[in-house]
Amino acid sequence: MRAPLPVPGPGFLRVTEDYLCLEGEGLTLGAPTHLIRLSGCDLRCWWCDSKQSSFDEREARLIPIARLLKRVGAACPAWVSMTGGEPLWRSALELASLGQLMKALKERGYKVKIESNGRHWRPELDAFIDLWSVAPKWDGRKQGLAQRSPAMDFDLGTLRQLCQGPGRTGRLQLKFVITTAPQGSPRPADLARVKALLKALGPEVKQVPIYLTPEGLLPGADYLERNRRLGAAIQRQAKAWADWDIHVAPQWHRVLHGDARRR
Ligand code: SF4
Repeated sequence: MRAPLPVPGPGFLRVTEDYLCLEGEGLTLGAPTHLIRLSGCDLRCWWCDSKQSSFDEREARLIPIARLLKRVGAACPAWVSMTGGEPLWRSALELASLGQLMKALKERGYKVKIESNGRHWRPELDAFIDLWSVAPKWDGRKQGLAQRSPAMDFDLGTLRQLCQGPGRTGRLQLKFVITTAPQGSPRPADLARVKALLKALGPEVKQVPIYLTPEGLLPGADYLERNRRLGAAIQRQAKAWADWDIHVAPQWHRVLHGDARRR
């Protein structure tokens, strides 16, 4: 068994992988993007599609930010996506290294997106972020699975701070994974909870693009069917969702490549 990673020193980040891809969802869908997948997450979503990064650190390495900058420079896309795991769930020292990396990326002219579960508002990093992509999670635990989280919930106060900061300036998108009921339809409780959360967030999120996507660890036709059923459910309730900028959309990389890694 591999020994645990040492605590990252100054200028190092815990990274599972980094590679050039086409962004698969949200406002930057289809944009060539260098993805940097940071290791470790404070949640344990059973539908997580990056468990190798969030649930354990077996694939993690300590990478100097200079090497990451070199690799981004070799690929040279417009966008760099900091994802995970949870990029903002770091020690103060590692957060400082993340800030250095993002500042250097901005100085070189890249646009920086951060993917977060929304439980960590780091205002000191805000100036380096062009797009906050926030996917709040809540009690999505499945009985019988070992992968469970003791704190599987969003933090309304933190989400409000996020929506009042980047949301006001058009640099925020919200994403929600909708789980599937046994008969294959979107779980009504999930849709009700999204609506309740959006109401709780108030007018700050009226202009924020909101993406609903089905839980999708299944490849191929089953995934497309889940998307069709989620789309049909939202169309049937179109009036109830009309207060928000709602979009039903699959994760395009999953449509193209299924569960393949590094796509
Ligand atoms: S918050 Fe995101 S990265 Fe963390 S376990 Fe859930 S889906 Fe995975």
